[in-house]
Amino acid sequence: MDQNSIKSVSILGATGTIGQNTLDLIRRNKEKFQVVAITGNQNIKELVKQAIEFQVEFVATACEEKYHELKEALAETNIQCAAGEQAIIEAATRPVDICMAAIVGVAGLKPTLKALESSELVALANKECLVSAGDLFMQSAKQHQTKLIPVDSEHSAAFQCLSGHQIAEITKLTLTASGGPFRSFSKEQLQVVTKEQALKHPNWEMGAKITIDSATLMNKGLELIEAKHLFSLTANQVDMVVHPQSIIHCLVSFIDGSVLAQLSEPDMRVPIAYSLSWPKRMKTPIEPINLVEISKMDFEAGDEERFPCLKLARQVMETETFNGPALNAANEIAVDAFLSDKCSYIQIPQIIENVLDKMQNELKTIDRFCINDILQTDKLARNMALNLL
Ligand code: NAD
Ligand code: MG
Repeated sequence: MDQNSIKSVSILGATGTIGQNTLDLIRRNKEKFQVVAITGNQNIKELVKQAIEFQVEFVATACEEKYHELKEALAETNIQCAAGEQAIIEAATRPVDICMAAIVGVAGLKPTLKALESSELVALANKECLVSAGDLFMQSAKQHQTKLIPVDSEHSAAFQCLSGHQIAEITKLTLTASGGPFRSFSKEQLQVVTKEQALKHPNWEMGAKITIDSATLMNKGLELIEAKHLFSLTANQVDMVVHPQSIIHCLVSFIDGSVLAQLSEPDMRVPIAYSLSWPKRMKTPIEPINLVEISKMDFEAGDEERFPCLKLARQVMETETFNGPALNAANEIAVDAFLSDKCSYIQIPQIIENVLDKMQNELKTIDRFCINDILQTDKLARNMALNLL
């Protein structure tokens, strides 16, 4: 990729928080990027607004019922559009310099795998891809020689700290977690928390699913697995620490006793910008941190007693049995159920644990490099979770 020419970009999940932040940065740097394709789901109004503003070539919605609404809204333009799962894959197939993979959940897996084939660089926000299909995903990136740049703030931090170093020089990677809105709640208090409380994240503005994941600490569990795959580490080389201020995003410990960290305000535009401008840096509207204003930073251990999702994810990371797809699928269903008042906050880990237990025998036979096996496991775990509900 020529560093000085205009970079072509596609954005899978353009209407989400990561998608909108990506477009905010592109809007501020219009001379550097050309948006070629964007995708969304239900929010056609936003998708159309983006398509027209950025004069994209192709727009896709995952929602087939919304096709006519999309088509009609774009009737006066030259912008092509399509709807359905295949349309999202078509968007991912467009050859571009950068594909921002920001669909939420395993719905993003097939399109992002496609993007690995047709993009020079994939900026990866969709962590569920790596939790469900980490081995297959990393193998595909290698096979197609596609650069994979993490967008998740902790992983972007690690990636930045690792620049110029070898993986063999790392002893440990420590991801920080804000602790979410219930960090200091007792087990008793956690029994009655509501989705409204859970949706109020203290530091980050994010989509609903990841906000709930942050409230259960499942997000950090998913991120441990994500880190293990991204950086080819062993389970005991990845760890987490609760850091309520969310200023340090990750700490990388090296064999010589040195520790490097990346710090910034908790604003996703910092890691997104790095993924768009790598290996260079680009201007963002985010001010550098002011240590005097911050004045202190706190750290505490993650409590797996009060936040069992963290324990479940860690166990999945540590066991040899391949249960990433089941963990992810059960969590997606449980979070959905919590958001639609079909289960309580404390039932989320109970549902996941139950599914993982029930899946034990199935998991022995699946091939972790086979997309059909992964998607079948995903489906089975989803059905089990739905039955439990
Ligand atoms: P979001 O809910 O705000 O947006 C999700 C996007 O995915 C939307 O564009 C939506 O239209 C699309 N989408 C939803 N269901 C779809 C489907 N079935 N098929 C195709 N597209 C579909 O989510 P977000 O907060 O932007 O997060 C996106 C991803 O980035 C998630 O994997 C999340 O874990 C990860 N991430 C987000 C943040 C953050 O700050 N928001 C930080 C780190 C990682
Ligand atoms: Mg993160």
